[in-house]
Amino acid sequence: MPGFTSTSEKTAVGPHLRLRIVICGAGLGGLGAAIGLARKGHEVVVLEGASQLSEVGAGIQIPPNSMRVLDAYGLSKRLQQWVERPRNIALRRYATGQILGVTPLHPRLTETYGFPYLLIHRADYQRILHEEAKSLGVEVQMSTRVVSVNTEVPLVTTETGQEFAADVIVGADGIRSRVRESVIPDQVIEPSSSSNCAFRATVTSDDMLSDPEVAHLMSDVNANSWIGHRRHVMAYPIRQGAMYNLVMSHPGQAAPGKWNEPGNLDEMKATYDDFDPVLKRVLGKVKGCLKWKLADLPPLTNWVSKSGRVVLIGDAAHAMVPYLAQGASMAIEDGAALAECLSRVQSQDQISQYLGLFETVRKSRCERIQECSRLNGERWHMPDGPEQEARDRALGKDHMSEEATATNGEDSHPNLWSDKGFQPWLFGYDVFTETSQALDRAEQSKFGQ
Ligand SMILES: Cc1cc2nc3c(=O)[nH]c(=O)nc-3n(C[C@H](O)[C@H](O)[C@H](O)COP(=O)(O)OP(=O)(O)OC[C@H]3O[C@@H](n4cnc5c(N)ncnc54)[C@H](O)[C@@H]3O)c2cc1C
Repeated sequence: MPGFTSTSEKTAVGPHLRLRIVICGAGLGGLGAAIGLARKGHEVVVLEGASQLSEVGAGIQIPPNSMRVLDAYGLSKRLQQWVERPRNIALRRYATGQILGVTPLHPRLTETYGFPYLLIHRADYQRILHEEAKSLGVEVQMSTRVVSVNTEVPLVTTETGQEFAADVIVGADGIRSRVRESVIPDQVIEPSSSSNCAFRATVTSDDMLSDPEVAHLMSDVNANSWIGHRRHVMAYPIRQGAMYNLVMSHPGQAAPGKWNEPGNLDEMKATYDDFDPVLKRVLGKVKGCLKWKLADLPPLTNWVSKSGRVVLIGDAAHAMVPYLAQGASMAIEDGAALAECLSRVQSQDQISQYLGLFETVRKSRCERIQECSRLNGERWHMPDGPEQEARDRALGKDHMSEEATATNGEDSHPNLWSDKGFQPWLFGYDVFTETSQALDRAEQSKFGQ
Protein backbone atom coordinates (compact mmCIF):
# COMPACT_ATOMS: atom_id res chain seq x y z
CA MET A 1 0.00 0.00 0.00
CA PRO A 2 1.40 3.42 -0.79
CA GLY A 3 2.61 5.16 2.34
CA PHE A 4 2.47 1.96 4.29
CA THR A 5 5.26 -0.55 4.65
CA SER A 6 4.21 -4.02 5.55
CA THR A 7 5.97 -5.54 8.54
CA SER A 8 7.50 -8.95 8.12
CA GLU A 9 4.98 -11.70 8.54
CA LYS A 10 4.86 -13.55 11.81
CA THR A 11 5.31 -17.25 11.22
CA ALA A 12 4.58 -20.35 13.21
CA VAL A 13 6.95 -20.81 16.13
CA GLY A 14 7.86 -23.04 18.99
CA PRO A 15 7.69 -26.66 20.06
CA HIS A 16 4.12 -26.39 21.32
CA LEU A 17 1.47 -29.06 21.20
CA ARG A 18 -0.46 -29.27 17.94
CA LEU A 19 -4.07 -28.95 19.04
CA ARG A 20 -7.29 -29.83 17.28
CA ILE A 21 -9.49 -26.74 17.48
CA VAL A 22 -13.13 -26.50 16.44
CA ILE A 23 -14.38 -22.97 15.85
CA CYS A 24 -18.15 -22.42 15.79
CA GLY A 25 -18.98 -19.59 13.37
CA ALA A 26 -17.29 -18.35 10.20
CA GLY A 27 -17.87 -14.63 10.71
CA LEU A 28 -14.93 -12.23 10.68
CA GLY A 29 -14.04 -13.34 14.24
CA GLY A 30 -14.12 -17.08 13.57
CA LEU A 31 -12.17 -16.82 10.31
CA GLY A 32 -9.61 -14.44 11.80
CA ALA A 33 -9.01 -16.84 14.68
CA ALA A 34 -8.77 -19.77 12.26
CA ILE A 35 -5.96 -18.00 10.39
CA GLY A 36 -4.07 -17.09 13.57
CA LEU A 37 -4.34 -20.64 14.94
CA ALA A 38 -3.53 -22.37 11.65
CA ARG A 39 -0.45 -20.19 11.26
CA LYS A 40 0.75 -21.59 14.59
CA GLY A 41 0.40 -25.09 13.19
CA HIS A 42 -2.85 -26.17 14.85
CA GLU A 43 -5.48 -28.32 13.14
CA VAL A 44 -8.50 -26.07 12.72
CA VAL A 45 -12.07 -26.86 11.70
CA VAL A 46 -14.67 -24.10 11.35
CA LEU A 47 -18.35 -24.99 11.54
CA GLU A 48 -20.72 -22.45 10.02
CA GLY A 49 -24.50 -22.69 10.29
CA ALA A 50 -25.26 -20.71 7.13
CA SER A 51 -25.17 -22.41 3.74
CA GLN A 52 -22.95 -19.72 2.29
CA LEU A 53 -20.84 -16.87 3.57
CA SER A 54 -22.82 -13.69 3.28
CA GLU A 55 -21.77 -10.83 5.51
CA VAL A 56 -24.90 -8.69 5.67
CA GLY A 57 -24.57 -4.96 5.54
CA ALA A 58 -22.00 -3.47 3.24
CA GLY A 59 -19.18 -1.37 4.61
CA ILE A 60 -16.95 -1.92 7.58
CA GLN A 61 -14.05 0.09 8.92
CA ILE A 62 -10.72 -1.62 9.60
CA PRO A 63 -8.78 0.45 12.12
CA PRO A 64 -4.98 0.27 12.54
CA ASN A 65 -5.12 -1.98 15.62
CA SER A 66 -6.67 -4.80 13.58
CA MET A 67 -4.70 -3.89 10.43
CA ARG A 68 -1.62 -4.74 12.49
CA VAL A 69 -2.97 -8.28 12.83
CA LEU A 70 -4.09 -8.61 9.22
CA ASP A 71 -0.70 -7.37 8.09
CA ALA A 72 1.07 -9.92 10.28
CA TYR A 73 -1.11 -12.55 8.59
CA GLY A 74 0.29 -11.38 5.25
CA LEU A 75 -3.03 -9.94 4.04
CA SER A 76 -2.17 -6.28 3.42
CA LYS A 77 -1.49 -6.75 -0.25
CA ARG A 78 -4.69 -8.66 -0.94
CA LEU A 79 -6.77 -6.16 1.02
CA GLN A 80 -5.23 -3.30 -0.93
CA GLN A 81 -7.23 -4.19 -4.05
CA TRP A 82 -10.52 -3.89 -2.21
CA VAL A 83 -10.19 -1.00 0.21
CA GLU A 84 -10.65 2.73 0.35
CA ARG A 85 -8.28 4.76 2.45
CA PRO A 86 -10.11 7.74 4.02
CA ARG A 87 -8.34 11.00 4.77
CA ASN A 88 -10.41 11.76 7.88
CA ILE A 89 -13.31 10.77 10.01
CA ALA A 90 -15.38 13.96 9.76
CA LEU A 91 -18.13 14.65 12.29
CA ARG A 92 -20.71 16.95 10.73
CA ARG A 93 -23.63 19.00 12.00
CA TYR A 94 -26.70 16.98 11.04
CA ALA A 95 -28.74 19.86 9.64
CA THR A 96 -26.10 21.63 7.57
CA GLY A 97 -23.25 19.22 6.95
CA GLN A 98 -20.85 21.73 8.51
CA ILE A 99 -17.73 19.91 9.69
CA LEU A 100 -17.59 20.07 13.49
CA GLY A 101 -14.33 18.20 13.91
CA VAL A 102 -12.09 15.68 12.18
CA THR A 103 -9.96 12.75 13.21
CA PRO A 104 -7.14 12.84 10.63
CA LEU A 105 -6.55 9.32 9.37
CA HIS A 106 -4.23 9.39 6.43
CA PRO A 107 -1.37 10.07 6.50
CA ARG A 108 -1.31 11.10 10.19
CA LEU A 109 -2.85 8.05 11.81
CA THR A 110 -1.02 5.67 9.49
CA GLU A 111 2.30 7.29 10.36
CA THR A 112 1.55 7.46 14.08
CA TYR A 113 0.49 3.85 14.51
CA GLY A 114 2.28 2.22 11.59
CA PHE A 115 -0.88 0.80 10.03
CA PRO A 116 -3.63 2.41 7.96
CA TYR A 117 -7.33 2.95 8.68
CA LEU A 118 -9.28 1.33 5.86
CA LEU A 119 -12.83 0.97 4.56
CA ILE A 120 -13.98 -2.27 2.96
CA HIS A 121 -17.07 -4.17 1.87
CA ARG A 122 -17.79 -6.85 4.47
CA ALA A 123 -18.19 -9.54 1.82
CA ASP A 124 -14.71 -8.77 0.44
CA TYR A 125 -13.23 -8.82 3.94
CA GLN A 126 -14.85 -12.14 4.78
CA ARG A 127 -13.91 -13.69 1.42
CA ILE A 128 -10.25 -12.73 1.86
CA LEU A 129 -10.18 -14.25 5.36
CA HIS A 130 -11.97 -17.37 4.13
CA GLU A 131 -9.55 -17.89 1.23
CA GLU A 132 -6.58 -17.38 3.50
CA ALA A 133 -7.92 -19.81 6.11
CA LYS A 134 -8.49 -22.45 3.45
CA SER A 135 -5.04 -21.95 1.96
CA LEU A 136 -3.60 -22.63 5.43
CA GLY A 137 -5.41 -25.96 5.53
CA VAL A 138 -8.39 -24.90 7.67
CA GLU A 139 -11.51 -26.95 6.97
CA VAL A 140 -14.55 -24.67 6.76
CA GLN A 141 -17.76 -26.66 6.85
CA MET A 142 -20.88 -24.75 5.78
CA SER A 143 -24.52 -25.66 6.64
CA THR A 144 -23.26 -27.07 9.93
CA ARG A 145 -25.24 -25.53 12.75
CA VAL A 146 -23.99 -26.23 16.26
CA VAL A 147 -26.83 -27.02 18.65
CA SER A 148 -24.98 -28.07 21.79
CA VAL A 149 -21.55 -28.20 23.34
CA ASN A 150 -20.33 -30.73 25.88
CA THR A 151 -17.67 -28.67 27.64
CA GLU A 152 -16.08 -31.63 29.43
CA VAL A 153 -15.12 -33.91 26.50
CA PRO A 154 -15.17 -31.33 24.80
CA LEU A 155 -17.45 -31.95 21.85
CA VAL A 156 -19.93 -30.07 19.69
CA THR A 157 -23.08 -31.58 18.26
CA THR A 158 -24.71 -30.17 15.14
CA GLU A 159 -28.38 -30.09 14.20
CA THR A 160 -27.92 -33.16 12.01
CA GLY A 161 -26.41 -35.05 14.95
CA GLN A 162 -22.82 -34.91 13.75
CA GLU A 163 -20.29 -34.74 16.57
CA PHE A 164 -16.95 -32.92 16.50
CA ALA A 165 -14.52 -33.63 19.32
CA ALA A 166 -11.60 -31.25 19.88
CA ASP A 167 -8.93 -30.20 22.32
CA VAL A 168 -10.36 -26.67 22.33
CA ILE A 169 -13.74 -25.36 21.17
CA VAL A 170 -14.06 -21.69 20.23
CA GLY A 171 -17.46 -19.99 20.28
CA ALA A 172 -17.31 -17.36 17.52
CA ASP A 173 -21.02 -17.61 16.86
CA GLY A 174 -22.02 -14.00 17.35
CA ILE A 175 -24.21 -12.02 19.71
CA ARG A 176 -26.86 -14.78 19.99
CA SER A 177 -24.18 -17.40 20.66
CA ARG A 178 -25.26 -20.98 21.30
CA VAL A 179 -21.80 -21.88 22.59
CA ARG A 180 -22.15 -19.19 25.28
CA GLU A 181 -24.99 -21.18 26.87
CA SER A 182 -22.54 -23.97 27.63
CA VAL A 183 -19.78 -21.64 28.84
CA ILE A 184 -22.13 -19.83 31.23
CA PRO A 185 -24.79 -22.47 31.87
CA ASP A 186 -26.16 -20.97 35.09
CA GLN A 187 -27.24 -17.61 33.61
CA VAL A 188 -29.58 -16.47 30.88
CA ILE A 189 -27.69 -13.83 28.94
CA GLU A 190 -29.83 -11.61 26.78
CA PRO A 191 -28.26 -9.00 24.49
CA SER A 192 -29.12 -5.50 25.75
CA SER A 193 -31.12 -3.87 22.99
CA SER A 194 -30.19 -0.24 22.54
CA SER A 195 -33.06 2.13 21.82
CA ASN A 196 -31.63 2.57 18.32
CA CYS A 197 -31.88 0.65 15.07
CA ALA A 198 -29.68 0.98 12.02
CA PHE A 199 -30.75 1.22 8.40
CA ARG A 200 -28.04 0.08 6.01
CA ALA A 201 -27.92 0.93 2.35
CA THR A 202 -25.61 1.58 -0.58
CA VAL A 203 -25.75 3.89 -3.61
CA THR A 204 -23.96 3.05 -6.86
CA SER A 205 -21.01 5.17 -7.94
CA ASP A 206 -22.83 6.04 -11.19
CA ASP A 207 -25.71 7.52 -9.22
CA MET A 208 -23.30 9.41 -6.97
CA LEU A 209 -20.96 10.69 -9.67
CA SER A 210 -23.70 11.83 -12.02
CA ASP A 211 -24.98 14.28 -9.39
CA PRO A 212 -22.59 17.27 -9.03
CA GLU A 213 -24.10 18.08 -5.61
CA VAL A 214 -22.86 14.81 -4.08
CA ALA A 215 -20.02 13.63 -6.38
CA HIS A 216 -17.42 15.14 -4.03
CA LEU A 217 -18.31 12.52 -1.41
CA MET A 218 -16.82 9.91 -3.76
CA SER A 219 -13.69 11.79 -4.82
CA ASP A 220 -12.72 13.25 -1.44
CA VAL A 221 -12.71 10.05 0.57
CA ASN A 222 -13.71 10.52 4.19
CA ALA A 223 -15.74 8.59 6.71
CA ASN A 224 -18.46 11.20 7.25
CA SER A 225 -20.79 11.13 10.21
CA TRP A 226 -23.71 13.54 10.35
CA ILE A 227 -24.61 13.68 14.05
CA GLY A 228 -27.90 14.84 15.59
CA HIS A 229 -30.29 14.15 18.45
CA ARG A 230 -30.61 10.35 18.79
CA ARG A 231 -29.69 9.92 15.10
CA HIS A 232 -26.61 9.88 12.96
CA VAL A 233 -25.58 8.75 9.50
CA MET A 234 -22.10 7.30 8.94
CA ALA A 235 -21.23 7.14 5.25
CA TYR A 236 -18.22 6.41 3.07
CA PRO A 237 -17.25 4.97 -0.33
CA ILE A 238 -16.25 1.31 -0.55
CA ARG A 239 -14.99 -1.17 -3.19
CA GLN A 240 -12.53 1.33 -4.59
CA GLY A 241 -15.27 3.82 -5.31
CA ALA A 242 -17.82 1.39 -6.75
CA MET A 243 -20.44 2.27 -4.14
CA TYR A 244 -21.28 4.66 -1.33
CA ASN A 245 -22.10 2.96 1.96
CA LEU A 246 -24.55 4.32 4.54
CA VAL A 247 -25.24 3.21 8.12
CA MET A 248 -28.09 5.18 9.66
CA SER A 249 -28.68 4.96 13.39
CA HIS A 250 -32.06 6.10 14.73
CA PRO A 251 -34.59 5.33 17.48
CA GLY A 252 -36.78 2.45 16.38
CA GLN A 253 -37.86 -1.13 16.64
CA ALA A 254 -36.68 -4.27 14.89
CA ALA A 255 -36.32 -7.85 16.02
CA PRO A 256 -33.05 -8.14 17.99
CA GLY A 257 -30.55 -10.50 16.41
CA LYS A 258 -32.22 -10.35 12.99
CA TRP A 259 -29.74 -8.78 10.68
CA ASN A 260 -31.48 -8.51 7.38
CA GLU A 261 -35.03 -7.30 7.83
CA PRO A 262 -36.04 -5.16 4.87
CA GLY A 263 -36.33 -1.51 5.89
CA ASN A 264 -38.99 0.89 4.65
CA LEU A 265 -37.48 3.51 2.32
CA ASP A 266 -40.13 6.14 3.10
CA GLU A 267 -39.57 5.65 6.82
CA MET A 268 -35.81 5.89 6.28
CA LYS A 269 -36.09 9.16 4.34
CA ALA A 270 -38.59 10.64 6.80
CA THR A 271 -36.23 9.82 9.70
CA TYR A 272 -33.58 12.13 8.22
CA ASP A 273 -35.91 14.75 6.80
CA ASP A 274 -34.27 17.57 8.80
CA PHE A 275 -30.70 16.51 7.84
CA ASP A 276 -28.19 18.19 5.51
CA PRO A 277 -29.68 18.67 2.00
CA VAL A 278 -26.55 17.05 0.51
CA LEU A 279 -27.12 13.90 2.55
CA LYS A 280 -30.82 13.95 1.67
CA ARG A 281 -29.88 13.95 -2.02
CA VAL A 282 -27.81 10.82 -1.36
CA LEU A 283 -30.68 9.19 0.53
CA GLY A 284 -32.95 9.99 -2.43
CA LYS A 285 -30.80 7.65 -4.55
CA VAL A 286 -31.14 4.66 -2.20
CA LYS A 287 -33.19 1.89 -3.84
CA GLY A 288 -33.45 -0.52 -0.93
CA CYS A 289 -32.33 -0.77 2.68
CA LEU A 290 -32.01 -3.23 5.51
CA LYS A 291 -32.84 -2.52 9.10
CA TRP A 292 -31.76 -4.03 12.38
CA LYS A 293 -31.77 -3.44 16.09
CA LEU A 294 -28.49 -2.33 17.63
CA ALA A 295 -27.58 -4.27 20.72
CA ASP A 296 -24.61 -5.14 22.88
CA LEU A 297 -23.83 -7.57 25.66
CA PRO A 298 -23.38 -6.89 29.35
CA PRO A 299 -19.92 -7.80 30.67
CA LEU A 300 -19.91 -11.60 31.04
CA THR A 301 -18.74 -13.32 34.21
CA ASN A 302 -16.42 -15.59 32.24
CA TRP A 303 -15.40 -16.33 28.66
CA VAL A 304 -13.95 -19.78 29.38
CA SER A 305 -15.94 -22.83 30.49
CA LYS A 306 -15.29 -24.34 33.93
CA SER A 307 -13.68 -27.29 32.15
CA GLY A 308 -11.13 -24.89 30.66
CA ARG A 309 -11.70 -26.22 27.13
CA VAL A 310 -14.32 -23.94 25.59
CA VAL A 311 -13.74 -20.24 24.98
CA LEU A 312 -15.79 -17.35 23.58
CA ILE A 313 -14.45 -14.71 21.21
CA GLY A 314 -15.84 -11.82 19.14
CA ASP A 315 -19.47 -10.79 19.45
CA ALA A 316 -20.25 -13.99 21.37
CA ALA A 317 -18.08 -12.61 24.19
CA HIS A 318 -18.36 -8.84 23.89
CA ALA A 319 -20.83 -7.59 21.26
CA MET A 320 -20.80 -3.80 21.24
CA VAL A 321 -22.75 -0.95 19.67
CA PRO A 322 -20.97 0.29 16.53
CA TYR A 323 -20.15 3.86 17.63
CA LEU A 324 -16.39 3.25 17.73
CA ALA A 325 -16.38 0.82 14.75
CA GLN A 326 -14.37 -1.69 16.78
CA GLY A 327 -16.52 -4.85 17.08
CA ALA A 328 -14.90 -6.83 14.29
CA SER A 329 -11.57 -5.31 15.10
CA MET A 330 -11.77 -6.71 18.65
CA ALA A 331 -12.77 -10.08 17.20
CA ILE A 332 -9.66 -10.03 14.99
CA GLU A 333 -7.47 -9.06 17.96
CA ASP A 334 -9.09 -11.91 19.96
CA GLY A 335 -8.04 -14.45 17.32
CA ALA A 336 -4.46 -13.24 17.38
CA ALA A 337 -4.33 -13.29 21.19
CA LEU A 338 -5.86 -16.76 21.32
CA ALA A 339 -3.27 -18.06 18.86
CA GLU A 340 -0.45 -16.54 20.95
CA CYS A 341 -1.83 -18.17 24.12
CA LEU A 342 -2.35 -21.61 22.59
CA SER A 343 1.11 -21.50 21.02
CA ARG A 344 2.54 -21.85 24.56
CA VAL A 345 0.65 -25.05 25.41
CA GLN A 346 2.98 -28.00 25.78
CA SER A 347 0.65 -30.52 27.38
CA GLN A 348 -3.13 -31.03 27.46
CA ASP A 349 -3.35 -30.13 31.14
CA GLN A 350 -2.02 -26.63 30.40
CA ILE A 351 -4.85 -25.71 28.03
CA SER A 352 -7.14 -24.29 30.71
CA GLN A 353 -4.34 -22.13 32.19
CA TYR A 354 -3.61 -20.58 28.81
CA LEU A 355 -7.27 -20.05 27.98
CA GLY A 356 -7.61 -18.36 31.37
CA LEU A 357 -4.78 -16.05 30.42
CA PHE A 358 -6.46 -15.29 27.12
CA GLU A 359 -9.54 -14.19 29.05
CA THR A 360 -7.45 -12.05 31.39
CA VAL A 361 -5.64 -10.31 28.55
CA ARG A 362 -8.71 -9.64 26.43
CA LYS A 363 -11.65 -9.08 28.77
CA SER A 364 -10.74 -5.73 30.28
CA ARG A 365 -9.77 -4.22 26.91
CA CYS A 366 -12.92 -5.39 25.16
CA GLU A 367 -15.18 -4.34 28.01
CA ARG A 368 -13.69 -0.88 28.09
CA ILE A 369 -14.27 -0.57 24.36
CA GLN A 370 -17.87 -1.79 24.78
CA GLU A 371 -18.42 0.94 27.37
CA CYS A 372 -16.68 3.64 25.34
CA SER A 373 -18.68 2.70 22.22
CA ARG A 374 -21.85 3.46 24.16
CA LEU A 375 -20.35 6.70 25.47
CA ASN A 376 -19.27 7.88 22.00
CA GLY A 377 -22.81 7.28 20.74
CA GLU A 378 -24.35 9.24 23.62
CA ARG A 379 -22.09 12.17 22.83
CA TRP A 380 -23.01 12.13 19.15
CA HIS A 381 -26.73 11.88 19.90
CA MET A 382 -27.15 14.94 22.17
CA PRO A 383 -30.21 17.16 21.73
CA ASP A 384 -29.59 20.66 20.40
CA GLY A 385 -28.88 23.10 23.23
CA PRO A 386 -26.06 24.59 25.30
CA GLU A 387 -24.45 21.19 26.01
CA GLN A 388 -24.40 20.33 22.31
CA GLU A 389 -22.98 23.77 21.49
CA ALA A 390 -20.18 23.23 24.01
CA ARG A 391 -19.56 19.78 22.53
CA ASP A 392 -19.37 21.22 19.04
CA ARG A 393 -16.85 23.84 20.15
CA ALA A 394 -14.71 21.13 21.74
CA LEU A 395 -15.00 18.91 18.65
CA GLY A 396 -13.34 21.64 16.62
CA LYS A 397 -10.18 21.49 18.72
CA ASP A 398 -7.30 19.25 17.71
CA HIS A 399 -6.53 17.37 20.91
CA MET A 400 -3.91 15.25 19.18
CA SER A 401 -1.73 18.19 18.25
CA GLU A 402 1.66 18.81 19.84
CA GLU A 403 0.34 21.76 21.81
CA ALA A 404 -2.63 19.97 23.25
CA THR A 405 -2.38 19.08 26.89
CA ALA A 406 -1.62 15.41 27.44
CA THR A 407 -4.44 13.63 29.17
CA ASN A 408 -4.92 10.10 30.26
CA GLY A 409 -8.69 10.10 30.61
CA GLU A 410 -11.12 9.41 27.83
CA ASP A 411 -13.33 12.32 28.85
CA SER A 412 -11.21 15.11 27.45
CA HIS A 413 -12.43 15.03 23.86
CA PRO A 414 -16.09 14.57 22.97
CA ASN A 415 -15.02 12.33 20.10
CA LEU A 416 -13.07 9.42 21.58
CA TRP A 417 -11.38 8.66 18.25
CA SER A 418 -9.58 12.00 18.71
CA ASP A 419 -8.87 11.78 22.41
CA LYS A 420 -5.21 12.12 23.24
CA GLY A 421 -5.29 9.45 25.93
CA PHE A 422 -7.78 7.06 24.37
CA GLN A 423 -6.64 7.11 20.74
CA PRO A 424 -3.17 5.58 21.23
CA TRP A 425 -4.62 3.00 23.62
CA LEU A 426 -7.21 2.06 21.00
CA PHE A 427 -5.31 2.27 17.72
CA GLY A 428 -1.73 1.77 18.89
CA TYR A 429 -2.42 -1.51 20.67
CA ASP A 430 -0.08 -4.33 19.65
CA VAL A 431 -1.99 -7.48 20.51
CA PHE A 432 1.01 -9.72 19.75
CA THR A 433 3.38 -7.93 22.10
CA GLU A 434 0.78 -7.31 24.82
CA THR A 435 -0.24 -10.96 24.83
CA SER A 436 3.22 -12.44 24.73
CA GLN A 437 4.39 -10.11 27.51
CA ALA A 438 1.43 -11.16 29.66
CA LEU A 439 2.26 -14.79 28.92
CA ASP A 440 5.93 -14.27 29.83
CA ARG A 441 4.93 -12.65 33.13
CA ALA A 442 2.50 -15.45 33.96
CA GLU A 443 5.04 -18.13 33.10
CA GLN A 444 7.75 -16.41 35.15
CA SER A 445 5.42 -16.30 38.15
CA LYS A 446 4.37 -19.90 37.40
CA PHE A 447 0.81 -18.67 36.90
CA GLY A 448 0.74 -16.86 40.22
CA GLN A 449 1.71 -19.90 42.30
C1 LIG B 1 -24.28 -1.26 12.06
C2 LIG B 1 -22.98 -1.90 12.44
C3 LIG B 1 -21.78 -1.36 11.99
C4 LIG B 1 -20.55 -1.92 12.36
N1 LIG B 1 -19.39 -1.38 11.91
C5 LIG B 1 -18.22 -1.91 12.31
C6 LIG B 1 -16.98 -1.35 11.84
O1 LIG B 1 -16.97 -0.40 11.06
N2 LIG B 1 -15.81 -1.92 12.28
C7 LIG B 1 -15.80 -3.00 13.13
O2 LIG B 1 -14.71 -3.46 13.50
N3 LIG B 1 -16.96 -3.55 13.57
C8 LIG B 1 -18.15 -3.04 13.18
N4 LIG B 1 -19.31 -3.60 13.59
C9 LIG B 1 -19.26 -4.79 14.46
C10 LIG B 1 -19.00 -6.06 13.68
O3 LIG B 1 -19.91 -6.18 12.62
C11 LIG B 1 -19.11 -7.28 14.59
O4 LIG B 1 -18.50 -7.01 15.81
C12 LIG B 1 -18.42 -8.48 13.96
O5 LIG B 1 -18.96 -8.74 12.69
C13 LIG B 1 -18.54 -9.68 14.87
O6 LIG B 1 -17.95 -10.78 14.24
P1 LIG B 1 -18.16 -12.24 14.87
O7 LIG B 1 -17.47 -13.15 13.92
O8 LIG B 1 -17.77 -12.25 16.30
O9 LIG B 1 -19.72 -12.49 14.85
P2 LIG B 1 -20.71 -12.61 13.62
O10 LIG B 1 -20.34 -11.70 12.52
O11 LIG B 1 -22.09 -12.49 14.17
O12 LIG B 1 -20.48 -14.09 13.06
C14 LIG B 1 -21.00 -15.20 13.73
C15 LIG B 1 -21.07 -16.37 12.72
O13 LIG B 1 -21.48 -17.53 13.42
C16 LIG B 1 -22.50 -18.18 12.68
N5 LIG B 1 -23.30 -18.90 13.65
C17 LIG B 1 -24.19 -18.41 14.54
N6 LIG B 1 -24.72 -19.39 15.29
C18 LIG B 1 -24.15 -20.53 14.85
C19 LIG B 1 -24.29 -21.89 15.24
N7 LIG B 1 -25.13 -22.27 16.20
N8 LIG B 1 -23.56 -22.83 14.59
C20 LIG B 1 -22.68 -22.47 13.60
N9 LIG B 1 -22.53 -21.19 13.18
C21 LIG B 1 -23.24 -20.24 13.81
C22 LIG B 1 -23.23 -17.07 11.97
O14 LIG B 1 -23.92 -17.54 10.84
C23 LIG B 1 -22.09 -16.13 11.61
O15 LIG B 1 -21.50 -16.47 10.37
C24 LIG B 1 -20.53 -3.05 13.23
C25 LIG B 1 -21.74 -3.61 13.67
C26 LIG B 1 -22.96 -3.05 13.28
C27 LIG B 1 -24.23 -3.66 13.79
